[in-house]
This record gives sequence, C-alpha cells and structure tokens, in this order.
Amino acid sequence: MNRFKGLSISGGKVHGAVCLYSAHKHADTTVRLIAETEIAFEIERLDNAVDECAKELEQFTADVRERVGAAESEIFSAQRHILLDKTILATIRAHITTELTNAESAVARIFGQFEERFLAMSDMLLRERSTDIGEVRHRLISSLAGTRAGFNCAGLHKCSRGRDRIIVAEELTADMMVHMDSSRVRGIVTEKGGVGSHAAMIARSLGIPAVSGLRGVYSAVSCGSSLLVDGDTGEVFIDPDERFIVERIPDPDSFSDAACHLESPAGISVMANASSIEDVRNASTIRADGIGLFRTEILFLRAERLLGEDEQSDYYRQVMVAAHGRPVTFRLMDIGGDKELPFLRIEKEENPFLGFRGARFLLGNPDILETQVRALVRLCDQWTIRIMFPMIIDAPQHRKLVALVRGIVDKMGIDQSKIKVGAMIETPSAFMQIDEIAAESDFLSIGSNDLTQYMFAVDRSNALVSGDYNPDHPVLWSALSGIAKAAAAKNIPVSICGEMAGMPGMPQRLIDIGIKILSVSSKLVSRVRGELIVTA
Ligand code: PEP
Ligand code: MG
Repeated sequence: MNRFKGLSISGGKVHGAVCLYSAHKHADTTVRLIAETEIAFEIERLDNAVDECAKELEQFTADVRERVGAAESEIFSAQRHILLDKTILATIRAHITTELTNAESAVARIFGQFEERFLAMSDMLLRERSTDIGEVRHRLISSLAGTRAGFNCAGLHKCSRGRDRIIVAEELTADMMVHMDSSRVRGIVTEKGGVGSHAAMIARSLGIPAVSGLRGVYSAVSCGSSLLVDGDTGEVFIDPDERFIVERIPDPDSFSDAACHLESPAGISVMANASSIEDVRNASTIRADGIGLFRTEILFLRAERLLGEDEQSDYYRQVMVAAHGRPVTFRLMDIGGDKELPFLRIEKEENPFLGFRGARFLLGNPDILETQVRALVRLCDQWTIRIMFPMIIDAPQHRKLVALVRGIVDKMGIDQSKIKVGAMIETPSAFMQIDEIAAESDFLSIGSNDLTQYMFAVDRSNALVSGDYNPDHPVLWSALSGIAKAAAAKNIPVSICGEMAGMPGMPQRLIDIGIKILSVSSKLVSRVRGELIVTA
C-alpha cells in the first residue's frame, strides 16, 4: 500500500476505483505522406472515426439533455452536424487522395481552414462557431490517433466521466468539475490546486471528498487502481487492503441528518451558495434562508457557449422557482481567473487573476452584460430580483454598472424598486472606497475568498502558498469590520459569501462584528446553524 499526504480540499472518506482525467490536449499532427495504395485505407480510417465520434456526440447530447438541460445539450448536437457536414468530409477525402497525406493531417488542415474562416467573421455568434469546429477537429484527430483529452478511462469501452469512481487528475480545474458526472463521482484526487479554487468549492458543495497537492499521484495510479481517499486528513492510500479500508471507513453510509431540521437563530440568516438549479433544490430541502450567492458564470462554463436572453431567462426562472420564495442573489457572470470561457477567445493572459475578469469583463462586453441583465429583469413579473456585481475595484466602476443596470430596467419599463443591486467587496481597493460604494448599493456582500487573495497577494488556487491564505489574519478582520460598519451606517444589509463563513468557529465571530447574513455551501448550512445555536 502506498500513502500520499496532501491538502484536504473537501472532507469525507471514500474507497473506490480510479478514473484518470488528463487536461493534456492533443498535439498538432504532423503530415505523413502515404502511397497511392494506402488511400482507401486512410479514407476508411477517416470514415470509422467519423462514425465513432458521431455516436459519441449523439450520446453526449442525450446525456447532457437529461443531466443539465436542453439548452446545454445543443452544443453537442451542433457539433455532430459540423462533423457530418458533407462538404467538409468530401474536402478531407479529396485532400487525402490528391495530397497523399494521412487522415489526421488532412483533418487538421481542412478543419483548420474552416475554423480560420469562421474566426474572421464579424458576427460574434458565427465567430463562436469556430470553437465548435476546433473541438470537432480535436475529437476526430484524437479518435484517429487513439488518444483522448479529458477523461481517459483506458480499457473501458465507454468513458464513465468518473461515474462511481475516484477521479485522479493533474490539476483541479473548474473545467473538469463541470464535465464530470457530478452526481456520481465518489472522490477527487489531484496533484495541483488550492483549497480556495472554484473547483475546490464545487467539490465541497457537492460533498465529494477531495485531496490536492499530491505530487506524483497521477503517474502512481492507473485507470481502475484501488484508492482510499481521506478528505479529512488529506491522505490518500493506493491499493489499501480490506482490513485497512474497514478500519478507516467503518460505516460508509452513515450520515446523520438530525441537524437538517435546525432553523437559523433569530435575526441571523444562514443562506447557501449555489451554482446550479440542483444546488438551489438542495438548499431548499434543508430550508436554507435563501441563496446568498448564485454563481451565474457556471451556467456558461457548462454550456460552453454564450446563452441567449430567452435561454438565460428560462434558467433563472427555474432557479427562482426552486428557491420557493426565498431570496436569491444572482451574481453577474464572473469570468476570468480560474474560470475561463475558451469560446470567448479572450487573449491568453499572463496573470488571469489580475486580468480581464469580473466587473472589468462585464464593462468591456456591454452586449453580454445587457443580455444577462435583461434576462434577469424579465423575472420581475413575479419576483424582486437581486443583482450583484463581481470584483468591483472602486466606486466609479461600481457606479457605471449601477447606471447600466438602472438604464436597462428603465428601457424595459420595469419599476426600479423591483431590482436590488449590490457590490461584492473582494478587492482591497473596493474596501478603501467602501462608504461611496455602500451609498449606491441596496446591499453588500463580502467575497472573502478573493478579498484574502488580493489583500495578502496569495494565489487562492496555489497549494504551494496556501500557508499564507489565512482567514484568521487580523488585517482581514479589520477590513471585515470596516465593511460591516459602512453597511450599518447606510442602513443596508451586508452578507459574507466566501468560504470562511462556513469554517468552524467563524460564524459567531462574523456575527459579533455585525455580519448577520452568512452564505455557505449548502452542505454546511446545518452545521453552521448548529454551531450558532450551541454558542448562543
Ligand atoms: C469570493 O471571492 O469570496 C466569492 C464568494 O466569489 P468566488 O469564490 O466565486 O470568486
Ligand atoms: Mg470572488
């Protein structure tokens, strides 16, 4: 038995078989010249690969429609159409025949030409199609070459995307988290990725035991290896024997739900953070006091494309319905940092956490912003809607966003009182102008994950520097008190939606400094309430 010790990302213990995930993308294919006698063979390989990929995409379309939604599944059915496009396939066959090249290089060449053509188009939606063409090219070449990026279950006929398995990956990425079969993944083990990354948060909100920072683990296991993950201690054991498994995990199904019936103490709200309708349903089941943070960008990450106003509005409406009348704070898409949307083709940044993200991205993309705001404002026919701006850096930037939203509300002829706007305070500079920002907000919410990151110049996703990521630091607490005081002075509510709100011992301390709305992962709502009741 081999033992690895890393960083605990999400608690819980589990034993199971490994599913490998590789973020490695297929390398460009080099041209291999063939003899005329090989033409028929190469064309047959091409046709077989096309068949295989078409079946895969058909399966994905059905799976995603069932698991995520019809809108999200369209991406795969669109890609299947591209794959089966008669003109493109005929051009590839002609290329093999006339240029005498192998199928991989003909696919790379011809698909590449179509991709370039779409990329040069002025219409944004058409430009986005180039990403689909690129993905089809990649899929087809991987199939021809017998390699696959992403879930890489060697030996399994059909990749299970981690279903009933423990995923082992080089890196804990948001991309991996949204593409795995989240309802059935049993555990996650990675070489890199910090406790504050978005992928880590998703793992915690799903209640999946996870350990990171385990150098060498990826090459130490293979698909199907037996693994025991202890997310409480940060340990991982390869090939544990039966006796060890029973000692470590005496009763794998034990779960106490006694705490699920707790209510929040009077005057305190314990809300849930959510990234999907499923999360909102879970929050309603345990009667959380609302959704303090709905991360809308995850919708786009899952769909791998931009969604139109109707699609978004339908989705947000389902969120509101699932919340059963409790308030939901929708954060406008917070793109950038560790949440990349490759289809937007934002230039690769040296420092994405300091780059074109959050409020900057929204102001730089007024069309995307307007579509999302309109989709949300449409819900005012039934509810009062709360809209929150991510990564505000100062009062003028906040003012611009408020004006844009208010302008859209006016244009749509909706009563302004039906829309509440608020700023996330997650940069030191926003804190420095907190009075001005509070004066123009209906509410504030503290994003302590990013506030800690920027205050101490410590990358929240980097396990190497996690020792400096200290939610107990007095500097952070003096900022938290300052924000609470500014909100009280303007008589507006302030919440905290960063991970620290759910850490043992923190809830009461936050309440003591005047932050009475805590928003935590729904798995933690009951524990936080229990803690508050005990300390009351
Ligand atoms: C935060 O930064 O604390 C926060 C809640 O936002 P996110 O984790 O999505 O960046
Ligand atoms: Mg943040």
